[in-house]
Amino acid sequence: MRVACVSAHGSPFAAPGAGSAGGMSVFLRSMMQALTDAGVWMDVYAASDGPCPGSFEQEPPRVTHVAAEDAPGFADDLLAAVDETGVDYALVHSHYWTSAEPGLRLAERLGVPHVFTGHTIAVIKERAGGAPEPEPRKYAEADAIRRSDAVVTFTEAESASLCDLFGLAPDRTHAVPMGVDTTLFGPQPRAEARAALGIGGDERVVLSVGRIEPFKGTDVLVRAIALLDTSQDVRLLVVGGREGEPGTEWLRETARASEVSGLLDWRAAVPQRELPSYYAAADVCAVPSLHETFGLVALEAMACGIPVAASDTGGLRELVRHGESGLLCKPGDAAALAEAFDAMLGDPLLAQRMGEAGAAQARRFTWDASAARLAEVYEQVVSARLNG
Ligand code: UDP
Repeated sequence: MRVACVSAHGSPFAAPGAGSAGGMSVFLRSMMQALTDAGVWMDVYAASDGPCPGSFEQEPPRVTHVAAEDAPGFADDLLAAVDETGVDYALVHSHYWTSAEPGLRLAERLGVPHVFTGHTIAVIKERAGGAPEPEPRKYAEADAIRRSDAVVTFTEAESASLCDLFGLAPDRTHAVPMGVDTTLFGPQPRAEARAALGIGGDERVVLSVGRIEPFKGTDVLVRAIALLDTSQDVRLLVVGGREGEPGTEWLRETARASEVSGLLDWRAAVPQRELPSYYAAADVCAVPSLHETFGLVALEAMACGIPVAASDTGGLRELVRHGESGLLCKPGDAAALAEAFDAMLGDPLLAQRMGEAGAAQARRFTWDASAARLAEVYEQVVSARLNG
């Protein structure tokens, strides 16, 4: 089976953890490789953000960067790029709302089914306390959910939300969890990781990984650190963003306002292959987002054997077992998050036990299993179209 994957939001090769790149580029990169290994040839047609590194003509999988100035231009250039390849795709899978219209146009033109994955859905973000989202986005998401043959989500809970919010029939949505590469993310000796990062062996380290912005709850995290019982020997290690990005300055201001600037250790985003030592150096990994569709960072921390303090919402609620692999707190509640940190930092044996439970849980989330499940969904959608 050959699948055209449309990503108008960014390339699988975008560096995650800064700018607008995050879990979606990790998902695309990991999934295209795992799908190929599962016998599904996935070609990715991606808008390039920033300098275009050109076309990647590995076969398979193949990534084509569609260089377009705007959304209508992207759709036209996408159709032209697909025409040029002359490949008979069996299905089109679009990722993120900006890809939906171009993907639907492509699927209609090829006469094949269309699958949509939103990654985040505007109405769900707003309900979770996020800033108002643009109306065209909400329209595009509702339209994609209505017109697609199937909607692939990352959790059963998200599928159920889409049925409630958009009247989607339950048999048209399929939950396919993301995965974690346990050959990269696994337990490592803490002392070595700390020495490499210039962190003292006796310090207590709370880690945050990923883009820095209000929806990720970075301000809640800073306020929680300020509330800790004995905050003096705690290091808040934040890995993500870049110097000069608004989020980075906002983080510093937030730390100043909470009088914890001295505890903040901000490091710019690093390539994923360097992240395991940051996880290994931590006593606890914080994921205080107002909402997470899946929660890749929590899963990576778990795979590294680090306990997680996370918001009780979305995918995090399914990944982190409260009291077992971490602690779940009400989103936006700095006092509850501080309490969770105190519980884990104050009881290293509890933290260690939770870390081990998390590592055992994370082993079940492989990209190969995710790809096998997605391949099944593709088969089902294609045969439903042939028979229907
Ligand atoms: N990440 C990375 N380097 C960094 C920070 C983050 O490679 O410095 C990766 C991290 O491993 C994770 C992804 O970026 O896989 C962020 O995932 P999340 O779902 O939180 O991203 P979002 O799409 O919500 O920004």
